[in-house]
Amino acid sequence: MTEAARTDARPAPAEAAPAVRLTGVTKEFGPLRAVDAAGLTLREGEFFSLLGPSGSGKTTLLRLIAGFERPTSGRIELAGRDVTALPPSRRDVHTVFQDYALFPHMTVEQNVAYALTVAGVRRSERRARARAALRTVRLDDHGPRRPAQLSGGQRQRVALARALIDDPGLLLLDEPLGALDLQLRQEMQRELRRIQRTTGVTFLLVTHDQEEALTLSDRLAVLDRGRIEQTGTPLELYDRPATAFVAGFIGTTN
Ligand code: ADP
Repeated sequence: MTEAARTDARPAPAEAAPAVRLTGVTKEFGPLRAVDAAGLTLREGEFFSLLGPSGSGKTTLLRLIAGFERPTSGRIELAGRDVTALPPSRRDVHTVFQDYALFPHMTVEQNVAYALTVAGVRRSERRARARAALRTVRLDDHGPRRPAQLSGGQRQRVALARALIDDPGLLLLDEPLGALDLQLRQEMQRELRRIQRTTGVTFLLVTHDQEEALTLSDRLAVLDRGRIEQTGTPLELYDRPATAFVAGFIGTTN
């Protein structure tokens, strides 16, 4: 069937607004331009990575999207909404950091339900949703435990459940597996991918690990000194690197 015939038979559904759209986003710290005129579009429900060496501006870009930093210039839209001037709490975004930052005095279930507690959600609903979130990360039986009784990988999964509990439009992950040893990291990479597929939430992962970005992502962007060098699927970047930097960096293994 030709493209025209298909269009006649069934009109295309209205295109969903991209999960993230950055237009000309720059961030300066004094004389340093940490992010330089970044343009980026993330599709709803994709697993996207920002890949680059240390100091290339990945975390700054993630913090701009989360709202922890304001851009020096440019525009940030999330799900079609201009959020450039909005605080983090009004962006429908959650962030998971490398250090998890769980509350040690609370149980796993209380940690996971924290956002709902703050929002004043009823106890019975909080419990039901916390249990569902713990099921998603395969920690069904661990609700009554304290973070200190869990392994590093399990704590990271609790942090994921906590970030996913109120069904954010976008989940930002800043080197979430960096503190784990190699075997656990590989296991958690599979978990991340599975959880992203199960929930359908758009994931944006920051990593300096080429293999991690290439194996996990639907698409990725490679950064160098604050600039986005190239955006594409893992295969596109691997097969047709646009610059010598991308070719060199993608080809490097840790
Ligand atoms: P990456 O995450 O790729 O390692 P960052 O975004 O953390 O890179 O940093 C990019 C550049 O911006 C680095 O040179 C870093 O030192 C600088 N930078 C980041 N945050 C600040 C800040 N708050 N003040 C001054 N410089 C900063």
